[in-house]
Amino acid sequence: MTTQINLNGQISDDAFISVLDHGFLFGDSVYEVVSTIEGKPVFLAEHLRRLRQSARELELTIPYTDTRFADEIESTLKSAGNQESYIRIMVTRGVGELDLDPVSCTRPNVLILVKEAVLYPKENYEKGIHLALVSVKRNHKESLNPGIKTGNYLNNMLAKMEASRSGAADALMLNALGYLTECTTSNIFFVKEERILTPSLDCGILAGITRDVVIRLARENGFPVEEGQWPPEALEQADEAFITGTVKKVMPVTLLNSRPIGDGKPGSTTRKLARLYDDYLQRIMK
Ligand code: PMP
Repeated sequence: MTTQINLNGQISDDAFISVLDHGFLFGDSVYEVVSTIEGKPVFLAEHLRRLRQSARELELTIPYTDTRFADEIESTLKSAGNQESYIRIMVTRGVGELDLDPVSCTRPNVLILVKEAVLYPKENYEKGIHLALVSVKRNHKESLNPGIKTGNYLNNMLAKMEASRSGAADALMLNALGYLTECTTSNIFFVKEERILTPSLDCGILAGITRDVVIRLARENGFPVEEGQWPPEALEQADEAFITGTVKKVMPVTLLNSRPIGDGKPGSTTRKLARLYDDYLQRIMK
């Protein structure tokens, strides 16, 4: 079991990029994280679509077709030989002048990093996690749109550090208007009287692939889902809460700023959706 890095088609156990790459200098890059089931990438088409959308927003050219990505990922997975992997796909602007304008960067770097999948502790799912509502606001969508998945995660990093200082597992951020947005690497949902509520995309969040699937599965299974602008009080008074993400899947949240949400235990709707999501993954990967 190893980490393998595919840099522009060359696979090795380490890789080096020039310090003049604008990805390093300015965070000028886009990326995706993909998980595997039975060694096969999950929702690869959706991740590649979002990678391309992010790149389009930055006017960054991705030099690979989807078929090339799939082939490179397959050979990197094979070379790593892990049972299950964490796959990070990254496209950086490439080497250019020490100037913000990307016009001097003519060759993007395409990186596929594969490492052994690390699972979150079982306890997170059985007991739920602690979130901190932090003072760091999510980037304004008209400054650096959180819908674009760039390599610049400093906003999230600052939020995460604030959460860690208070002993919470992750941070939940508000937008400039004071409405709930998302956590540092996941989307937030909460349940009130059997309605499932989640911030709408126009709050300034990443359109999570897991979020999308969970909303669809919930609706198909008779749970009403409302996307909207929710103040933090709505979550404080919720019966249950959970977060979603590629690696975390559906993870219960039972504490907000050290106060219990509902009865402080993972709720029945959360557990049902977690099961529906796991079953769905097993079904589509067969
Ligand atoms: N929000 C942010 C800021 C993220 O980084 C992630 C992880 N990609 C998510 C939400 C969840 O998205 P997904 O379900 O596509 O992993």
